[in-house]
Amino acid sequence: MAPLPALLLPQALRAPRTFFLPSRRLGTGEGPTNTFDVAVVGAGIVGLASARELCLRHPSLTFAVLEKEKELAVHQSGHNSGVIHSGIYYTPGSLKAKLCVEGSLLCYEYCDKKGIPYKQCGKLIVAVEQEEIPRLKALYERGLQNKVRGLKLINTKEIQAKEPYCRGLMALDSPYTGIVNYRQVALAYAEDFQAAGGTVLTDFEVKDIQMNKESPIGSEEGMKYPVAVRNSKGEEIHCRHLISCAGLYSDRLSQISGCSPEPRIVPFRGDYLVLKPEKCYLVRGNIYPVPDPRFPFLGFHFTPRMDGSVWLGPNAVLAFKREGYKFYDFSVPDFIDATAYSGLWKLVLRNFSYGMGEMYRACFLSAQVKQLQRFIPEVTVNDILRGPAGVRAQALDRDGNLVDDFVFDGGSGDIGARILHVRNAPSPAATSSLAIAKMIADEVEHRFHL
Ligand SMILES: Cc1cc2nc3c(=O)[nH]c(=O)nc-3n(C[C@H](O)[C@H](O)[C@H](O)COP(=O)(O)OP(=O)(O)OC[C@H]3O[C@@H](n4cnc5c(N)ncnc54)[C@H](O)[C@@H]3O)c2cc1C
Repeated sequence: MAPLPALLLPQALRAPRTFFLPSRRLGTGEGPTNTFDVAVVGAGIVGLASARELCLRHPSLTFAVLEKEKELAVHQSGHNSGVIHSGIYYTPGSLKAKLCVEGSLLCYEYCDKKGIPYKQCGKLIVAVEQEEIPRLKALYERGLQNKVRGLKLINTKEIQAKEPYCRGLMALDSPYTGIVNYRQVALAYAEDFQAAGGTVLTDFEVKDIQMNKESPIGSEEGMKYPVAVRNSKGEEIHCRHLISCAGLYSDRLSQISGCSPEPRIVPFRGDYLVLKPEKCYLVRGNIYPVPDPRFPFLGFHFTPRMDGSVWLGPNAVLAFKREGYKFYDFSVPDFIDATAYSGLWKLVLRNFSYGMGEMYRACFLSAQVKQLQRFIPEVTVNDILRGPAGVRAQALDRDGNLVDDFVFDGGSGDIGARILHVRNAPSPAATSSLAIAKMIADEVEHRFHL
């Protein structure tokens, strides 16, 4: 059968057109194609949402997204649980709480508008031990403070009415939690951005950011675009302002722009297991444990996917390579970089036994299954397969504390005054992406007088 013409595909399923500037036009100072009012580094869901928002607000300005990969949204934004979080967990008043609650509403609205499929399958946070109940009740209070819709505490019978195979003493029921394919959402943002006149440059790994000492494109225009951004092939674009949304490399981007390398990014890999198709009937919606308050991760959970499969996990183990998705992936520079940072040692020593436990469970399926059986006793080792993995970009401060909230900041010096860094955008940043984009656009307008 002949392939469908691209125009007949639903918009969100079409691969976004990516524009490759011919290299001879880059860095030659000849034409307008390598100058932009604002360039965004990173075509993950946060960079694309922010570029889209700015481009829609300012049709007379020129925007570019610079992405090192050949495809868009292939790192965190393409390797995640796909949950549209409702905003329960986060400290009241924090950016995470505010932007998640706002972002989940915007996400549903956007998917409706673009015809992107999602399921509002709900979520139960389940207490299986008496000692978890006070923490579950505290979560409920927190969710109410964050103005999460539809929350209620339910008992054993009500748990079984919703999830017949799940056992539990009490659960927090969040009916507006949903699932979606975030890569599809990110690609739709890219399409909006390009339709509004934005340029996406893939295969453009930013390696160097400098203020132009001299005009690169003639005296008049030269100082209009004073920031020179060079890639690994030596090609350049010039811009007035820069926004860095580089996920696992956000600290490195900050460093090469002359801004602070801290907080540093620590990569935490999350391995998933997958339920065999014949066992997917065991799970209807999202089933989560009561989280351990010492960690920002939400615990090993059951998550239905848009394709009908069910993923279990992810765990959280220190990764020896940023963007390393396999157990044995190792990068010497990433390893040296991480181990030379005192914050990492403090974190490791403080959480040594937890970290070793996670490593042990990552190696032995039976240990992970034990965790799952606390909720669904029917699950056995024979019902699961090893699945994909994602790597979280988690910011870590010098004292070994994981940075909890989203962090957006500028920098110092000439370039620092022209750049905004997204320093920490872990989960639920995919849920919150449209709300984050609005906040970034407001900040950029204010800071850079757009
Ligand atoms: C295992 C896992 C599960 C998660 N589950 C959920 C969930 O259920 N719900 C939720 O809301 N969130 C979830 N998240 C979090 C969410 O996926 C991320 O917060 C979000 O995707 C971050 O988007 P981003 O654009 O900041 O980063 P990314 O998607 O990582 O994008 C950064 C981009 O920058 C590019 N880049 C880096 N350096 C350079 C450079 N030098 N030059 C050019 N480009 C560069 C990268 O190639 C990449 O494309 C999860 C994350 C993980 C890892």
